[in-house]
Amino acid sequence: MKALVYHGPGKRSWEEKPKPKLQEPTDAIVRITTTTICGTDLHILKGDVPEVEDGRILGHEGVGIVEEVGSAVSNVAVGDKVLISCISSCGRCDFCKRSMYSHCRNGGWILGHLIDGTQAEHVRIPFADTSTYRLPKDANEEAMVMLSDIFPTGFEVGVLNGEVAPGDVVAIVGAGPIGLAALVTAQLYSPAELLMIDLDPNRLEVARSLGATKTIDAGRPDVVKAILEHTGGDGVDVAIEAVGIPATFDLCQQIVAAGGHIANVGVHGKPVQLELQKLWIRNITLRTGLVDTFSTPRLLDMVNAGKLEPARMATHRYALTEMMKAYDTFAAASRERAIKVVLHAGG
Ligand code: NAD
Ligand code: ZN
Repeated sequence: MKALVYHGPGKRSWEEKPKPKLQEPTDAIVRITTTTICGTDLHILKGDVPEVEDGRILGHEGVGIVEEVGSAVSNVAVGDKVLISCISSCGRCDFCKRSMYSHCRNGGWILGHLIDGTQAEHVRIPFADTSTYRLPKDANEEAMVMLSDIFPTGFEVGVLNGEVAPGDVVAIVGAGPIGLAALVTAQLYSPAELLMIDLDPNRLEVARSLGATKTIDAGRPDVVKAILEHTGGDGVDVAIEAVGIPATFDLCQQIVAAGGHIANVGVHGKPVQLELQKLWIRNITLRTGLVDTFSTPRLLDMVNAGKLEPARMATHRYALTEMMKAYDTFAAASRERAIKVVLHAGG
């Protein structure tokens, strides 16, 4: 089969690899029909994720058709269309019992990281019963594939950790796929205002089309002042950090109102300065963490009920065989005005 293979920092190729085989009775083999590229894949390619080995097939987002199941798999069967979770979880360990699936003692974030991933014609999914979701045959695959990672991440680590509540003023810093997923899912809680802050005017325009009530250029020198003035001097109830650099984490600390929440979603490669004195005296709650994907069934229900339209994140479409070109587009996301680049097998 063909797959997108990592060959050390800066090197990737679309090449022939052996088709995966069942290794454990809890495994399933899935034929990929739709997959996408994530910002995390670009981090891996830069060499920022040192555990990823030369020869690894990348990708942790996907929808496909089950081709084989191990003897212990009972929730999905051959021929089923499934959504693949970016988190593989055994469902039985102490962490899984607390819905902390990313800390699963037997799985966690392993797909396209520690084991071969979804940017391929076929993938082996460990713990298929608790790491895939059966979909109707006519499911909108472009909507569903957004539920592998970006929607659970924006929702769980941004909106739920930030405790967005009716009437809140919410600021989201970073209008990438994750920040935009937070923007869309925050609307489920009827906030009074949704401010989106980014450097990229194209992404701010997308944010407006997805429901941001105000967008602010992060590059302006008076960005803190502008946000404080906009909120009558108080600041925002919830600040969601979806970039992952010290400056944007600091911005969240500057703009959050007394009693408010900071939800840090961004992955920080460098230490940030924690203004504990400032946070303490204003009773700020700070939360952060890895996505667990415990919210996926809820998100699936909301999509089915027509309350969420994740397919709107898809801006570019390629055939699976055009993977190298799709990476070029996604790597130049700002110039290409790309949010999510979706690949369809046989499309
Ligand atoms: P992305 O790179 O596509 O988007 C980041 C956005 O931030 C871009 O639109 C960029 O223009 C903007 N930006 C850059 N510098 C800025 C600044 N100084 N001020 C304001 N905006 C700025 O990233 P993404 O895929 O949307 O992911 C966002 C973050 O979430 C990343 O750090 C990613 O690693 C992280 N992430 C976390 C989890 C988790 O489990 N917590 C899961 C997935 C991704
Ligand atoms: Zn587990």
